[in-house]
Amino acid sequence: MEFAIALHGGAGAQPGTDYTAQKQHMGRLIVEGKELLLSGMSAVDAVATVVADMEASGLYVAGKGSMPNRDGVVELDASIMDGSQRRAGAVGALPNVVSPVKVALSILVDGRQVMLAGDGAVRFAKQTGAEIVDDPDNYYCEHERHGARDMVGSHGTVGAVALDTLGNLAGATSTGGLFHKEPGRIGDTPLIGAGTWADDLVAVSCTGVGEAFIRSAAAHDVAARMRYSKAPLDEAARAVLEETRKCGGDGGLIAIDKDGHITMPFNSHGMKCAAVSSEMDVVVRVFEKA
Ligand code: ASP
Repeated sequence: MEFAIALHGGAGAQPGTDYTAQKQHMGRLIVEGKELLLSGMSAVDAVATVVADMEASGLYVAGKGSMPNRDGVVELDASIMDGSQRRAGAVGALPNVVSPVKVALSILVDGRQVMLAGDGAVRFAKQTGAEIVDDPDNYYCEHERHGARDMVGSHGTVGAVALDTLGNLAGATSTGGLFHKEPGRIGDTPLIGAGTWADDLVAVSCTGVGEAFIRSAAAHDVAARMRYSKAPLDEAARAVLEETRKCGGDGGLIAIDKDGHITMPFNSHGMKCAAVSSEMDVVVRVFEKA
């Protein structure tokens, strides 16, 4: 049975930092993702499950590991897209939920809107049974570990893309955004077409300096290059990262095409990522380029 799945833990990896815990976690999680797909789970449910696990781990700048904005508040962005039907869900600047990607999935399933932010997003999360963080000061952990102002502007994100055994593609991305960001700042992660995209050709999840990924419509541009110029997956992905660099930011992305090819390029120092498919054994990388 053909399948493919890839995940990332952000392109903000810094040389000299020990990512052993993240590599072990990604190695375990990518095998779990493979088993979910082989058990018949849809791509959209598989990427939501994988991203929710990364959010809960506290090992990445998403969910529990998120860092606060300038007011000391953690605001979360997430999105998810089902390529088979172009259904999508997203949340922007959402406080105090355990799993923003699960709220995004509820929006996708509900289907009446694609993106919610502000009080309405909080209300929707509560109404649809999202797990709420009652004690944010003791739940979010990243800023306690790093603490200092020298983290300003540092960032990280998690994401996953998958091709299920029925041939459907999906992508999901979730982040706490940039440390010390402006309150209310929303990056590329929850924007369908910038941080996340999935259609019948390709699924994409991006990470990096969000403003540059928004200005280059990065995730959708991978699909557009494949559809209009017939560019192969890897060529399309690398060309898009060149565009984001021209727009003033570095980063990386993971993408899978309808034939199960996987690419995970980055132009930052490193990107925590892992992948496996019916054609390829498990790979787990941080600084090594493919
Ligand atoms: N793209 C995310 C943002 O700008 C950050 C990241 O991927 O590291 O919010």
